[in-house]
Amino acid sequence: MSETNTERRRMPAKCPKCGSAKALPISYGFPSAEMLKDAQEGKIVLGGCVIREGAPIWQCAECSHKWGELRMAVSLRFWRDDV
Ligand SMILES: [Zn+2]
Repeated sequence: MSETNTERRRMPAKCPKCGSAKALPISYGFPSAEMLKDAQEGKIVLGGCVIREGAPIWQCAECSHKWGELRMAVSLRFWRDDV
């Protein structure tokens, strides 16, 4: 699949639950060395190897709330985060 599919996404405004601006992109797929490093540094959240339609794509660093929707039908490069 794609490597890090995080940089193609625009950052969300803020967490819809607590209002925090610290939203971390959730990366799916088998983590690369780079992804593991980013996850350790708290830049991303690893979503696991199973990629499914409609999976959340953002996680709040403050309250761990997850939101967004992964869309695979069109292209892995396009994401919908207009929740
Ligand atoms: Zn939050």
